[in-house]
Amino acid sequence: MMTPLILPIFLPHLGCRQHCLFCNQKATATEVPSPQSVREFIEASLRHFSSRPGERERQVAFYGGSFTAMSLEDQVSYLKEVQPFLSSGRIDSIRLSTRPDALNEETLATLKKYGVKTVEIGVQSMLDEVLILSKRGHGANDSASAILRLKHWGFEVGVHLMIGLPGDTCDYFLRSLDRIVDLRPDFVRIHPTLVLRGAPLEELWRNGEYSPLSLDEAIQSLKKGMLKLEKASLPLARIGLQPTKELEEHLVAGPFHPALHQLVDSAIFHDMAEDLLRNHPNGSKPVFVCHPKDLSNLKGQRNENLQRLKNRFKLSDIFIFSHKDVGRGDLGLQTKEGEVLIERKWLD
Ligand code: SF4
Repeated sequence: MMTPLILPIFLPHLGCRQHCLFCNQKATATEVPSPQSVREFIEASLRHFSSRPGERERQVAFYGGSFTAMSLEDQVSYLKEVQPFLSSGRIDSIRLSTRPDALNEETLATLKKYGVKTVEIGVQSMLDEVLILSKRGHGANDSASAILRLKHWGFEVGVHLMIGLPGDTCDYFLRSLDRIVDLRPDFVRIHPTLVLRGAPLEELWRNGEYSPLSLDEAIQSLKKGMLKLEKASLPLARIGLQPTKELEEHLVAGPFHPALHQLVDSAIFHDMAEDLLRNHPNGSKPVFVCHPKDLSNLKGQRNENLQRLKNRFKLSDIFIFSHKDVGRGDLGLQTKEGEVLIERKWLD
């Protein structure tokens, strides 16, 4: 399935009832566009996109605040501006992000009426103690109820989770994921907690009351989470925040990496290669087989995976054949007899 072409409109902190500990939406965008400027923005974006090939679904997305926590009147004033584009077929649908405790039945009926297809909710954790420490102002049961009610109304549901919040652990994160898997949203996004300038968390960090995850700790947690989602066939839409100029300017500390998803994929491939070599020692020049699109995942950034495997197993060389008949995410190791042993980590 092709991912939609998203035209993002950022409404920093609009509708927010309090300031969550980790958040500073100014790190994403600084100005709040008025409803009237939305139409102009969509026109300009469509002009930019019209030259691109493909038939991807086009969605206008309202991100960066708590859309459904605004007054119904304000919500409608933004949604109305998209209606001419929906009627003419130049835009297919609308998506928005919001809080799980701001989705009453009247709101859901309004979103349906105005062509909203996808609702992404900031769940962050399914552990109440983590939510309290993060000053979220809602509980895990609000999130569970929101997911179920959104599904009941026929919306596509996205869930945002975070790792490394105050009071969180890798085990808590995996327990949160288990609950989310049971609730079956349509996709999940996972963001490591970053210390952003201007977010309340910055002060805790400066006082030594909060330590962010290291990049390696984040990768280890994300690796476990990603395998869990793969096993449950629950799509992972994104890992980590989009690298932007604003984010770079506001980033103070934390496990940020512009290619975090790829680092996690590489860590999984490293583990698979290690398992294969440990269980099937086969000389000092092993031959791996993978899909062409997994080649860089197997090698790792700057060939780091290959170097670590060479050191660990005292290999003089590693050969890799890539072939499109190998499944994405699978890794093969050729035996002396020419047979290929396949490791499929998430199907263990
Ligand atoms: S995390 Fe969401 S609800 Fe909390 S302050 Fe940021 S935009 Fe508002």
